[in-house]
Amino acid sequence: MSFRICARARGKSRAFTLIELLVVVAIIALLIAILMPSLASAREQSRAAVCLANQRQLGIGSRMYLDEHRGEFFHHHDGWVLDDGTQVDTLPTTIEGVAGGGVGHSAAEKPWVIYIQPYLRNREVVFCPSDGTSRSRALTYSLDAFNGGIESADDEPPPTSELAIAEREHLTLQSFMLNSVFTHKSARYALEGALYGFLSDTRAVSLRNQNIVMFSERNSEAMNARDNDAFGSVSQDDYDTWVGEAALVRWGSDAGQHENQGWLRYNRHGRNANYVFLDGHAERMNWSKVRELQFPDRVVRRPLDNPPD
Ligand SMILES: [Zn+2]
Ligand SMILES: [Zn+2]
Repeated sequence: MSFRICARARGKSRAFTLIELLVVVAIIALLIAILMPSLASAREQSRAAVCLANQRQLGIGSRMYLDEHRGEFFHHHDGWVLDDGTQVDTLPTTIEGVAGGGVGHSAAEKPWVIYIQPYLRNREVVFCPSDGTSRSRALTYSLDAFNGGIESADDEPPPTSELAIAEREHLTLQSFMLNSVFTHKSARYALEGALYGFLSDTRAVSLRNQNIVMFSERNSEAMNARDNDAFGSVSQDDYDTWVGEAALVRWGSDAGQHENQGWLRYNRHGRNANYVFLDGHAERMNWSKVRELQFPDRVVRRPLDNPPD
């Protein structure tokens, strides 16, 4: 009001001068610059919330699966898994014996997205909105459509199956990864007294870490990368904790430009990521807090000197 009165009093035109216009433009530009980061972080906050809601569905679905299967997940392999990923039928008697030298994987990995699918609303809930990698387009609901129902690791999935297409085009099948203590028997954990056999509800009761992490966020960017032959794999949907912390969050120089990363995307949402726990709840956590909760006895295997904070 005072501007109009003042302008009229001086008998000048009420149009803006060029300087005034430039000042207004500069102020708007400044406001945008100030607001943009907080808008971006608000967007990321809402993506993190959607991710957490999706993980809650996954937690509930997994609990339903476990409750209907006597507290156990499906098994990937029935042998004891050694540190190098090979298997033996008889548990080694010494800790030196768990390093490796068994036979390679014989059975095909079982995709949890299909096994747990009947207990989920849809396949969309296994994705995190902050996982910006290209998603698998045709989300399938049966083992047959997913990988042709292959039973041996030597078999190729049919070329038109979802898995084969994803592997050809480096597409993401899920944004979360299953802690493999549920589907594998670690020889190391058995000999170290941390966990003897598959982790089940019955066994969890006697663990030092009774509410172990069940799902973590997948580092799809690095796992699907065409230049990460040493560690990347489109089909990988689970992670082994007994090999140590480096595989989880910091592979090392063999991974080239992905060396400061690991299977898990511990910083998917700012400095944190979301995790699903055995009791079915999901929680946003920092790596420094969640790292020991990945292990059955809360002891981080081969801990990094400087783990991410
Ligand atoms: Zn396996
Ligand atoms: Zn997420």
